[in-house]
Amino acid sequence: MTSLTAHGEPPRYFTFPALAAAGLPHASTTRHCPGVTSPSQPTSPFTSDAHETLAAAGLDLARVAYARQVHGADVAHGLTRGGVAGAVDVLSTAERGMPLAVFTADCLAITLWDAESAALALAHVGWRGTVKRAQQSAVAAATALGASPARLRVAIGPSIGPCCYEVDEPVVSDFTHAFGETRWRRWARPSSNGRLLLDLWTANEELLADAGVDPARIENPRLCTACHPALFYSYRKGNRGRLVTVAALP
Ligand SMILES: [Zn+2]
Repeated sequence: MTSLTAHGEPPRYFTFPALAAAGLPHASTTRHCPGVTSPSQPTSPFTSDAHETLAAAGLDLARVAYARQVHGADVAHGLTRGGVAGAVDVLSTAERGMPLAVFTADCLAITLWDAESAALALAHVGWRGTVKRAQQSAVAAATALGASPARLRVAIGPSIGPCCYEVDEPVVSDFTHAFGETRWRRWARPSSNGRLLLDLWTANEELLADAGVDPARIENPRLCTACHPALFYSYRKGNRGRLVTVAALP
């Protein structure tokens, strides 16, 4: 388990210590970051307040690229300019200084970076994206830009944890169909009220490892959005706000 570095009081965004130490400008916002809306709006999801706040993280939101996220595994490959990159859930770029952004409120925002080849990918992954292997699409997207999967540094943002993520059909059948009973039994456990609790963190870590990622290079603070309503938005807890994870090649 890794921890996050808080920026601001109350924290407006977090950074991942290993990504920061290696020099990647990035941020995962909290509900205290001003000026973040949703990428489904016709207007920009960032106001000038967000531009100003995230500039402190070395991110130039005037150049940011993002997508209309659709819970799939399709990729907008090798982006060279900002704005809406289509209806996809994985973004990649080899362009230095151009931020990629993924919006979440319980789903996983996964950042993948190979410093040596200057390849960056971000993925929005909920249960549907997990089943469709969006995390592996992101590894492939980075690899297509010259990354080595084993060299990738990966970070999983604050998202809903196995403490709070109750699921039933069609999640159960889709997971067992996609990954088999053995994995399902490892990733899900019964809750005290007879429902099932799904561990999307472990599922995604294992699927990333299947794609060649070194588990020791995955930073996952295992910080649950539903457990920390003072810090995060949680769709499951009835919030309609969005958190955003943003990163740009140095
Ligand atoms: Zn929780």
